[in-house]
Amino acid sequence: MNREVSDMVYSIRMRSSKGGAHECGGSHISGAERLVGADKLKELAGLMIERAFTHTKGRADFIRLTIEQVEEEKLKRLPLLSIKNSECDSVAAGRKVVVDTLLEAGVAPSAARGGLERLASLPVNMRGAMVLCCETGVRLDDLGDRGIRVSRMDSDDEELLRQWLERQEYKGLHVREAIVLASKVLSFSDVVAELCWSDDPEYVTGYVATKQFYRRITPLKEYGSARGGRIFFVKPHTDIAEMKRYLEEQPVLVGYKEAWREYF
Ligand code: AMP
Repeated sequence: MNREVSDMVYSIRMRSSKGGAHECGGSHISGAERLVGADKLKELAGLMIERAFTHTKGRADFIRLTIEQVEEEKLKRLPLLSIKNSECDSVAAGRKVVVDTLLEAGVAPSAARGGLERLASLPVNMRGAMVLCCETGVRLDDLGDRGIRVSRMDSDDEELLRQWLERQEYKGLHVREAIVLASKVLSFSDVVAELCWSDDPEYVTGYVATKQFYRRITPLKEYGSARGGRIFFVKPHTDIAEMKRYLEEQPVLVGYKEAWREYF
């Protein structure tokens, strides 16, 4: 059957860097990911380019914009994680909440503390996430500063997601993008938890996501710090190649109307 272009779904994604392309040593500025119909591509391409040029980390001199049709039959639908919020008095207090939440999720104490320490002492920002064993804290991927880059995900209803977040008083792109990404990450069976804080110097909130919820924690770093990163804590013997394939290539839409119900 011939389908109209307007019915098709496309992955549109951007990554940008300064000092050349990432693979040539440039430093990461920003990235973005959406899955949309053809009618939205032009507007989103413009917004993504603008984002690369106006980021708090500087003006990108390399931008890669990729647009690719996705086979609708391959789209997977997933529930969105619910949100919890922890406001703390200091970075140390925020990081204590990180450890407590990781332990509750089944991460061993030494792996939780070791992971936190790794993220806090990264010499350069990675482009993606590192994978750590939830029992030993040993790094299981061999992807260096690239790590795993979660891709091909979006919400199934952008306007509903915006309203749902606003009713819980969450505004801005950070939380919207993070919860969509975390919902995909935690949907991989062997992922036990995710830890993240942004490399945006003006954004000090981070999060721990578990199978049960996404917990925003403020602050997880000092204002002005341009260091951030992500860790996926996984069960021992996780098939890292399979996990990478799923997180980078499987297109997913998160939302499920049940997740919104209690707010409307
Ligand atoms: P951000 O929250 O965008 O500031 O990103 C914080 C850190 O998470 C970055 O420094 C990267 O190490 C990592 N990261 C950013 N985007 C992704 C992604 N799509 N998949 C995996 N890790 C990412």
